[in-house]
Amino acid sequence: MENSDSELRRKYRDALERLESDEARWSRLENVLRLTIGRLCLAARGRSARLDGELRALGDLIRRQPAVEEIEACLDPLSRAIAALDRLPEGAAAPEAAPGGSEAQARSGARPEAAAPPAARRPATTTFGPEALADGPPQAGSDGPSGVLLDPAVERAASPLRGAATEREARIQVTIVAMLERLGSLPELRPVLAELQDRPVAALTADELAEGLERVARLIGEQRSRLQREKVEVEDLLRQIDARLEEISGYLAGEAANQKSAQDSSQQLNLLVMDEMHELNTDVQRAIDLAELRSRVRVRLESITTHLQDFRAREEQRFASQTDRTGRLRVRIAELERESRDLQQSLQEEQRLAMVDALTGVANRAAYDERIQHEFARFGRDGGPVSILAWDIDRFKDINDAYGHRAGDKVLRVIGQHLAQHVRGTDFVARYGGEEFVMILVGTDADQALVAADKIRGGIAKIGFHFRSRPVTVTASCGIATFRADDTPDAIFDRADRALYRAKDAGRNCCVVM
Ligand code: GH3
Ligand code: MG
Ligand code: MG
Repeated sequence: MENSDSELRRKYRDALERLESDEARWSRLENVLRLTIGRLCLAARGRSARLDGELRALGDLIRRQPAVEEIEACLDPLSRAIAALDRLPEGAAAPEAAPGGSEAQARSGARPEAAAPPAARRPATTTFGPEALADGPPQAGSDGPSGVLLDPAVERAASPLRGAATEREARIQVTIVAMLERLGSLPELRPVLAELQDRPVAALTADELAEGLERVARLIGEQRSRLQREKVEVEDLLRQIDARLEEISGYLAGEAANQKSAQDSSQQLNLLVMDEMHELNTDVQRAIDLAELRSRVRVRLESITTHLQDFRAREEQRFASQTDRTGRLRVRIAELERESRDLQQSLQEEQRLAMVDALTGVANRAAYDERIQHEFARFGRDGGPVSILAWDIDRFKDINDAYGHRAGDKVLRVIGQHLAQHVRGTDFVARYGGEEFVMILVGTDADQALVAADKIRGGIAKIGFHFRSRPVTVTASCGIATFRADDTPDAIFDRADRALYRAKDAGRNCCVVM
């Protein structure tokens, strides 16, 4: 695509350069013509005051780069002045016919010239000095362009200007025609030049020549305008091509970062655009003129635009379905997150329940095993006192036997809650198994533990169970042990358990420290 693109740009640059070169050529020709008309005006002076006035007005007009219409406006009065000249006796330098002066004077408001005959004041032969021809076109009889209808002898014999016109004036006229012949290479001017060339130079009257020159000048002006318009159109076309190509490359660059489907789509567009650019390149090479070229380029650009629109539609559809998928995915993710949260909570609950004794609601044996490891490690770091209290309900078997297993369960629940309610937040209570409970009192030495345990034991004895309105006394015994430096969790529990047995041996409903 890049090659086609640069080839296309090169072609348009060439076309633009050609237009500019044509425009420069036409501009040079226009200047030469303007110069020529000016010199003609000078050359033809001295024939009559009226003609002089018209010629001066034309000369002034030409110097300030007039519009074609302005020159045309000068032509009628000029023609009439020349016609009036033709009616005068041959060779006579006519005084001004109208008392009010020439039409040019009338138009410009200038005062008529003095009464002296114009020819006497300004002979035609003195109006056109050699210096005026110094940079002019080739002279008659010199090495002028081939085909110049030029024969000084014939010219002198047949010129209608003979008499008043000098040989120098005739040479000027011939020079103009020679210059016009050089313009013959421009096809638009050929018909006008052919008319001028149909007759010998010497046979052309001054107004015929002036009229021909005027037509040539007008054609050059029109040609310049046409070239300007074409230049503007070509520039506009180039801007359009630039804008489209920029749009396409922007799309391709933007989509390149997308997913594979987008890449496939971009590649497809790329291939289509490359094809179009290739065809465009072929069209450019085949195009005969600018109008055809423009039309072919426009067709190709429309085609590229269609491909681009298809590509956009595909991309929009892809985007819509992607958005839809993303939306569904987002909902699903939210569901999964909720499920995961629920699961997490349920797991936490499971974990909590796994550490809780279902019957009494206090921590279970597993929780104790975990906690005792933790407290033992902390004791190793801080060294603060920690006591273990092992509780066992006295003669619980008898309770079961006397009041039933459910009554026994209730006693277990009530005593478990009582133990939990009578320790500090930093302490720990667990059902160790059966009718046995265990306590960890943090920051409590043996003596403090004994005081606390005895208080709790007294509380249990006062709970006030009853069965079928008959009071039932329930007591518990406690064995106490305190962490030592060389302890292990099992060793300290064994000591507490042994202390408990001693309490049992001591008659129950008492606390023993070991
Ligand atoms: P001691 O004073 O020597 O401890 O006598 P004891 O009867 O309490 O001890 P023993 O070990 O002989 O009896 C314990 C009883 O506790 C036996 C068992 O049936 C009962 N028991 C253990 N677990 C439960 C339970 O979860 N619920 C009920 N209701 N009874 C239980
Ligand atoms: Mg027991
Ligand atoms: Mg017991």
